[in-house]
Amino acid sequence: MTTTTTLLEEISVPEGIGRPIPDAATREVIAYAPVHTTEDLDRAIADARAAQPGWAALGHAERSRILHAIADEIEANAEELAVLLSREQGKPLNGPNARFEVGACALWTRSAADTPLEPEVVFEAGESRAEVHYEPLGVVGAIGPWNWPMMISVWQIAPSLRMGNTVVVKPSEYTPLSVLALAAVFNRHLPEGVLTVVSGDREVGASIAAHPGLDKIMFTGSTETGRRIVEASAHNLARLTLELGGNDPGIILPGTDIAAIAENLFWGIFLNTGQTCAALKRLYVHDSQYEQVVETLANLAAAMPSGNGLDEANVLGPLQNEKQFDVVRRLVDDARARGARIVTGGAAAPEHGPLFYQTTVVADIDDGAPLVDEEQFGPVIPVIRYSEVDDAVRRANASSQGLGASVWSSDVDAATEVARRVQAGTVWINQHGAINPNVPFGGIKASGYGQEFGVAGLKAVAAPQVIQR
Ligand code: NAD
Repeated sequence: MTTTTTLLEEISVPEGIGRPIPDAATREVIAYAPVHTTEDLDRAIADARAAQPGWAALGHAERSRILHAIADEIEANAEELAVLLSREQGKPLNGPNARFEVGACALWTRSAADTPLEPEVVFEAGESRAEVHYEPLGVVGAIGPWNWPMMISVWQIAPSLRMGNTVVVKPSEYTPLSVLALAAVFNRHLPEGVLTVVSGDREVGASIAAHPGLDKIMFTGSTETGRRIVEASAHNLARLTLELGGNDPGIILPGTDIAAIAENLFWGIFLNTGQTCAALKRLYVHDSQYEQVVETLANLAAAMPSGNGLDEANVLGPLQNEKQFDVVRRLVDDARARGARIVTGGAAAPEHGPLFYQTTVVADIDDGAPLVDEEQFGPVIPVIRYSEVDDAVRRANASSQGLGASVWSSDVDAATEVARRVQAGTVWINQHGAINPNVPFGGIKASGYGQEFGVAGLKAVAAPQVIQR
């Protein structure tokens, strides 16, 4: 545990000048995070701009070498980072949670280093030839959420650095310590000014969005904030990648082997205690298997251990903050008041801590209920009955959101045929939310625009330049 103290000591500030950051499970103060101002932001952006030409001049091979050194460093400090992440964010160490997230940070950093991006010859005829080269944009502003704070920061930072940009990061005010610790690990290998964290509140976020010194904003967060960033970018014409909210549907086709999909289905819904952008948030099940699915999910939900994340037995944790806890409670109470059936859960679980909520399965509910139509972002799933597959597809597509979706069937071809008709950036088959650093990820409709990961992700933080003769 001594190493945890070391990183925390490095990034935290004294009580009198910092923002208290609670342990998500116990609500006791972990440490005090710096509260940076817009003046700090201006300074960080000026430093990033000054550092950028030198960073770009290192070239791809050297930047990739440094990114690998950073990935090694993340792995060498993995347990310390995971413990801090678990305490601040709430996700348990065990299961697809804190250790998994830190592992993903190293993996995505290596992927950004290794993905080739050669100039493309797009036209050739006789003496004429046109090539597209990918140049750095300049300074990237990265604004992140509180649900996967380290991993999502890496998604924004690593490709930007690889392409020769410098980066100023604004973490969520709920999870600054995780991002500060991660950046401290990065900065053991980066020149001064290349990566700076500005740990400020929402006003600092708004100042980043409109800042004339930035060339690109990578934003992951709610659709509402995404809209504000689009408005603000009218001032700086910053390029935008917007990874926004989701209300992902899942459709189980008739005749599916429910036992075979049960575990993937559970984690597709409850990954990170449901606080995942591309988690399954409304489940459409055919009449013929409705009760079987409801019962299977309820049994898994009741059996899956929830509690303090540092206890290795637990795989589900608390809601990260009070605001999100209130959203979940409101939506479940509303569903109950409308006559929906709370099959399991449906109440707070204060025996584990103030912001724990029971893992909840809600049946006999329909589109139009807020629990179905809104993003719950917590450990609750509404299960909705359908009779015709076409009708299920229509209802899945009726949302303004379009991040992810899934189709479940023992017949993969039939599932693929249905998947092609569902409106979402990714449609998974017999899984939900699985991501891969080489596979582009991004939403459509009000879930945002632009893609991350792989070649598409590198291009998103680069300026295309055409050389034509
Ligand atoms: P949020 O929009 O409240 O906050 C996100 C970040 O934006 C924070 O750092 C915040 O300080 C900052 N911010 C606030 N106001 C701002 C402004 N006016 N200008 C610029 N920045 C501002 O979102 P959240 O509650 O932290 O995250 C949860 C949401 O994020 C959910 O809707 C979830 O679906 C979404 N999300 C999406 C993805 C994805 O990849 N699509 C991933 C994770 C989370």
